[in-house]
Amino acid sequence: MRQKLAAGNWKMNGTSAMLPELKALAEAYGTAGVEVLICPPAALLHRAAVVVSDSAVAVGGQDCHAAVSGAHTGDNSAEMLKDAGASAVILGHSERRTDHSERDAAVCAKAEAAMAVGLTAIVCLGESLQQREAGETLTVIGAQLQGSVPDGSTADNLVIAYEPIWAIGTGKVPTLEQIGEVHGFLRAQLVARFGDELGTGVRLLYGGSVKPGNAAEIFAVEDVDGALVGGASLKAADFAPIIAAL
Ligand code: PEP
Repeated sequence: MRQKLAAGNWKMNGTSAMLPELKALAEAYGTAGVEVLICPPAALLHRAAVVVSDSAVAVGGQDCHAAVSGAHTGDNSAEMLKDAGASAVILGHSERRTDHSERDAAVCAKAEAAMAVGLTAIVCLGESLQQREAGETLTVIGAQLQGSVPDGSTADNLVIAYEPIWAIGTGKVPTLEQIGEVHGFLRAQLVARFGDELGTGVRLLYGGSVKPGNAAEIFAVEDVDGALVGGASLKAADFAPIIAAL
């Protein structure tokens, strides 16, 4: 039985003024049956970890470097995130793939680094609108999955987030059939590559304009084990109903 996961990606939003939102969430979900993860900016990670300690809410990073340490100005290693209190890290988000030209091989190396220190790697995949309209969605997703996910993955240290680029922050959401098609495809690809235990055990999140109003119908789609949520994770009042819908 895969545990449901609601993961919030604060992106480059949030200073210490946001910590009361996190505190409200931690108080509301201190004993929740679902897993709740908030990924604040790296600068806020440690303070966020302190706020959620003693609750069921965990914190994670939004990216890590593939190297253990060294001359990489501005970057954070997986070990640094872990040391700051993270239990997971988002990798290969489309904004990183676009803004920082991250390719599948780089995402894979980062995932290996994250797993090596005991972090769960939340690997993001997703097609552009142009690719969807050209009928290339499954080809694109399949290649990203193959290239971004390390061989050493397990059902515990890997989560996949399907995030169509055209749905992120736009208010546009794929049809439930389109979500189901991609999640079913991902499940089958994982089973084919890694076998039944990992393939059926890895959690598959949907991400892209998940809101309180559409969460329940998305979570009812087969093989959707939760969500990666951007905008609606910034306020406890918006994120709480999404968690409740799981
Ligand atoms: C995201 O950034 O991963 C995301 C899904 O954003 P939003 O929920 O705002 O579309």
